[in-house]
Amino acid sequence: MAEFSPEQRTVVIIGAGPAGLTAAYELVKLGAKPIVLEQGDDVGGLSRTDEYKGFHFDMGGHRFFTKVPRVEAMWREVLLEGLLRRPRLSRIYYKGKFFNYPLKPWNALSGLGVVQSVIIAASYLRWQIFPYRREDTFEQWVTNRFGRHLFRTFFKAYTEKVWGISCSELKAEWAAQRIKDLSLRTAVLNMIVKPGRTIKTLIEEFDYPRRGPGMMWKAVRDEVEARGGRVRTGCKVIGVKRDGSVIKSIVVSTNEGSEEVAGTDFLSSMPLTEFVTALDPEPGADISNAASRLSHRDFLTVCLIVDASDLFPDNWIYVHDPEVSVGRIQNYKNWSPHMVPDASMSSLGLEYFCSEGDELWNTPDSELLELAKREVETIGLASAADVRDGCVVRVAKAYPVYDTDYASYLDTLKGCVGGLRNLQKIGRNGLHRYNNQDHAMLTGMFAVENLVHGAGHDLWSVNADSEYHEEIREELADAPPASDAEVEEAVRDALSWVFAKLDKVALGMATGVVGAASLAAASLFLVAKGGAVVGPHLGLMSQYLPGYEASLPGAALGLLYGAVAGFCLGWSYAALRNGTLAMYKTRVERRAESLSLRRLLDYL
Ligand SMILES: Cc1cc2nc3c(=O)[nH]c(=O)nc-3n(C[C@H](O)[C@H](O)[C@H](O)COP(=O)(O)OP(=O)(O)OC[C@H]3O[C@@H](n4cnc5c(N)ncnc54)[C@H](O)[C@@H]3O)c2cc1C
Repeated sequence: MAEFSPEQRTVVIIGAGPAGLTAAYELVKLGAKPIVLEQGDDVGGLSRTDEYKGFHFDMGGHRFFTKVPRVEAMWREVLLEGLLRRPRLSRIYYKGKFFNYPLKPWNALSGLGVVQSVIIAASYLRWQIFPYRREDTFEQWVTNRFGRHLFRTFFKAYTEKVWGISCSELKAEWAAQRIKDLSLRTAVLNMIVKPGRTIKTLIEEFDYPRRGPGMMWKAVRDEVEARGGRVRTGCKVIGVKRDGSVIKSIVVSTNEGSEEVAGTDFLSSMPLTEFVTALDPEPGADISNAASRLSHRDFLTVCLIVDASDLFPDNWIYVHDPEVSVGRIQNYKNWSPHMVPDASMSSLGLEYFCSEGDELWNTPDSELLELAKREVETIGLASAADVRDGCVVRVAKAYPVYDTDYASYLDTLKGCVGGLRNLQKIGRNGLHRYNNQDHAMLTGMFAVENLVHGAGHDLWSVNADSEYHEEIREELADAPPASDAEVEEAVRDALSWVFAKLDKVALGMATGVVGAASLAAASLFLVAKGGAVVGPHLGLMSQYLPGYEASLPGAALGLLYGAVAGFCLGWSYAALRNGTLAMYKTRVERRAESLSLRRLLDYL
C-alpha cells in the first residue's frame, strides 16, 4: 500500500456525525486537511443537540458510556471539564403507575397488585413448564422467559411502538443474540475472571456533556477547522462518481446548486442504502433491489417548554401504556441542568416512533404539540396549562432495522462497496449496524488507521462485541493488553475447559485397567510372599467378589473383577460430574440471562 502523505491526499468524508467528525479529528492531528460534507445545517448527526429559544434538546437522550478507552479519552480531551457525571433514573409508566427500570421483581409485583401478581406468577410457571417449542418471534422468545402476562405488561406495547410492527412479526434472533452475548459474557466473567464479583452491567450513572451531545461535536468541528480541515454543512451528497473501482469525486447539492468535490480517499457515514444508489455509473439491479429491502425506523420528538421547576426525577421514562402513543419521555434538565436557560423552567422531549412519510410523521407541528400536551397531562407528568411553548424535530433513519432478510441484503451491499478501492464505510447507517455513538466513533478511528497505516481493521465487525471484549479487558486490567481475537479465544478456551465433559467410557476403561492391574498385582504379590495363610486380609474380598482368593487363579479372577468394578466406578463418576456441571452451567447462565433481560428495553 502507498504511504500516506497528507500533502498529496485529499480525504473526503461524508457526514458530520460522530463517525465522520471523529475520522476528521484523527486526520487533522496527523496533518491532513479533510473535507467533511454534511447535508444538515448543524453537526452531530443523530447525536446533535437542537436549540429552541435557549433550551437544548437532545435527539433521544445520549448517555456517554463506553468500554472503549480511546473513545473515552477523546470525549475528555475535547470536552475537558464539560463532561458531567450524572445519576441514572429511568422508570416505566404502565396503567397509571411507575415501575423501576431496570425491572426489580418486588417493585414490579407490588406495583401491579396482588391479583395481577398471582396471574403473572401463574403465567410465568405455565410458560416455564410448557414453553413454546420454537422461538421464532420476539413474542415467543420473551414469553418463554417471562410468561405471557409479563410480556404483555412490560414488553409488548413499547416494543411495538418502537418498531411499528407486531411482536409476533418481529424476529427473535436480534434480542436473543444480544441477550445471549451479554449473558455469556456475564457468566464467563463471574465464573472465571473474578468469581463472586458482579459486573457492573446495570449502569447507574453515565457521563453527559453540559449542554448535550451536540456540544461535543461542535467542539470537534471547531478543532478540525482550526487545524485546516473543512466541515461544510448544507451539502447533500447526491452522486458518487467512479471510474471502475475507484471513486473520483462526490456530487453535492447546496443552496447554490450542485457541485463536484474531488478527492483521493473517501469515508462515508451516509446511509449505505443511499450511498449505493448514488453511485455513478449505477451498480447492477441486484444492488438497488437489496438497497430497497433494507429499512430504517424513524422518530420525532415533540419538545415542550414547561413553566415548572421540578416535574419528575427521571432522566427518561419508558411509556408502555397503549392508551397514549408517546414511546419515551426525556426530562432534559435531569440530564444536565444546563439544558435549560432558566432554572424555574423545564423542558421535555416526547418521543414518538414512526416511519418517514407515515401519518404521524406528516402530522402538522401544531397538532403534534397539542397531542404531546394532552398525553403529558394524561400521564400526570405536567399540566397542559403550564406548557409555554414547544417545537417538533423529526429524526429520519434513527434505527437500522434488523428484519428477517436484512443480513443477506446487507451482504449484497457489502460486496458492492467492498469493491471500491478508495472507499471505507463508517458509522451507524453507513454500515447499517446498530452502533452506539462510541462504536460509530471507533469505526472513524479505525478507518483512519487503515488509511494511514494500512492497519487492516474490519470496520463491519466493530459493534457491541468489542464492548464485550473491552469489559473483559477491564476486568483483567493488570494483564498485558490483548487483541480482540486473543480475548475471544481465551474466553472460548476457558469455557470449554471449565465445562469440559468427561468421556464416561474412556474414564471407565482407564479406572478399569487401574482396578484390574491393582487387584491382580496385589494378589500376585501376596502369593509370591507366601506364608501359612496367604493374604488373609485381601482374601476377605471374597465376601463381595464371589470366588476370589489370594492365589494364582484368584489373581486371574481379580483381574476381571478389578476391571469391571473399576469401569463402573469411573463411568459413574464421569456421569455424576457431567450432570452436576451441566446443572451448574445452566444455573449460571440463567442467572446471567435474568440480569441482562432486566435491561432489555435499553437495547430496543
Ligand atoms: C433515539 C436514540 C438514542 C440514542 N442514544 C444513544 C446513547 O445513549 N448513547 C450512545 O452512545 N448512542 C446513542 N445513540 C446512537 C447514536 O446517536 C449514533 O450511534 C451516532 O450518532 C452514529 O453516528 P454516525 O456518525 O455513524 O451517524 P449519524 O449520527 O447518523 O451521522 C451521519 C451524518 O451523515 C449525514 N448525512 C446523511 N446522508 C447524507 C448525505 N447524503 N449527504 C451529506 N450528509 C449526509 C447526516 O445528516 C448525519 O449528520 C442513540 C440513537 C438514537 C436514535
